[in-house]
Amino acid sequence: MSVTEMIEKAGVVGCGGAGFPTYAKLRNGVEYFIINGAECEPLLCTDRFIMRNFAANVVSAICAVNGEIGAKHCCVALKESYGEEIKALTSAIEESGAPISLHLLRSFYPAGDEQIIVYEITGRVVPSGGIPPDVGCVVSNVATMLASYDAISGKPFISKYLTVNGEVKNPLIVNAPIGAPLTECLSLAGGAAIEDYCVLLGGPMMGKIVAKEALTGMTVTKTTSGIVVLPPDNRLANIQRMSVEHMSRRAQAACIRCSQCSDLCPRNLLGHLMEPHKIMRRLALRRNPEELPLDDEVVRSAALCCECGICELVACPMELQPRRINALLRKRLSAEGIRYPKGLGQKKTHPFIEMRKVPTGRAAARAGVYKYQKRKIDAFAEARPESVVLPMTQHVGSPCKPLLPDGADVSRGQLIAASPEGKLGSSVHASIDGKIEILHDAIRISSERRGG
Ligand code: SF4
Ligand code: SF4
Repeated sequence: MSVTEMIEKAGVVGCGGAGFPTYAKLRNGVEYFIINGAECEPLLCTDRFIMRNFAANVVSAICAVNGEIGAKHCCVALKESYGEEIKALTSAIEESGAPISLHLLRSFYPAGDEQIIVYEITGRVVPSGGIPPDVGCVVSNVATMLASYDAISGKPFISKYLTVNGEVKNPLIVNAPIGAPLTECLSLAGGAAIEDYCVLLGGPMMGKIVAKEALTGMTVTKTTSGIVVLPPDNRLANIQRMSVEHMSRRAQAACIRCSQCSDLCPRNLLGHLMEPHKIMRRLALRRNPEELPLDDEVVRSAALCCECGICELVACPMELQPRRINALLRKRLSAEGIRYPKGLGQKKTHPFIEMRKVPTGRAAARAGVYKYQKRKIDAFAEARPESVVLPMTQHVGSPCKPLLPDGADVSRGQLIAASPEGKLGSSVHASIDGKIEILHDAIRISSERRGG
């Protein structure tokens, strides 16, 4: 079986983003194989933990994968401030003797964005509407490489490392079986340090705020990167709580057409035709993003937005939300099957691209989470839940279908669900021993129910 097939069989998906199945990303004939260790979002430090503690496994997986895809250059990109991680990777690379280089990045946001990292390393620009292979690159990340190492060793993708940070008693890294309750991960951090709180799923720039009550019932998925406990009145919660109507009314009334959102937009700086201030101008003529016509070129350019959040959390002096408006438009465009034509409107990179990089500390400060940013998290715990709930969609592609009947006994690592053959998708394996219960769009495994 090839390395790619082993990775497919193990159900590995990209740990750093939307969950694109890793096997489908690995292409032969590219020039660069880039592994992202930049850990883009402030407050999350899972990838740093992985690089410090599992550098040899990560390097071994990079060698195995590149042995198959045969890229000429193999490079791990991480921040120049990551002293211990640089040391751990350097010695693992030296020991392996593999021609893997380290590319050190400044500490800016979004350094770990796929298209930014391609530009930083190769000087090439992924064309608007395109993907890294268009310029000879495959990008993965260190957590995905660790999961690939397990896959090559015959272990399916059944657990996830995640950061638990913010207003918790003991911030830490948790390794949790996929499907573990998020409340259990929070308990391992000693629980919330404040009585009233909300929870950020993911990082402050791109994550989603949920009420503390909503956390019960939510579980770790293949793409969970972290949970951050925040006071309920923090800036991120206030922004996300605002209704679409209210947000649109504010945009109409308060946008001063300063174009700072476009000036700092990383996609715009790469030369893509992404000009959020123009979308805001269009919105001034309508009541709601739902009413913006999708045949308008400016409206369609929302498809180029990577939802990094710089425009609304860092750039806009009026605290408006171009990112959220773009996200609503992207949903509409995707529902209509409208794709952005590759390369349309592509310009040269902006001459100020270097000086307009947003320092990570500034991004954290603007998001109102700077006080948690400087923590170095070394504490670690394993979650051992008695039951897990595994969603059938944790990845890009076709949802999985259960392969076993309700009530079947399963063992940890056993294949329990798969996407239809021939379709882009992934498989799901039991992350604990137990008895399965088929739910509407998930499978529950309860260890206490095993054997009746
Ligand atoms: S979220 Fe804003 S800054 Fe980021 S890519 Fe989209 S428009 Fe640009
Ligand atoms: S930065 Fe804010 S005020 Fe300025 S154009 Fe963009 S949305 Fe409008």
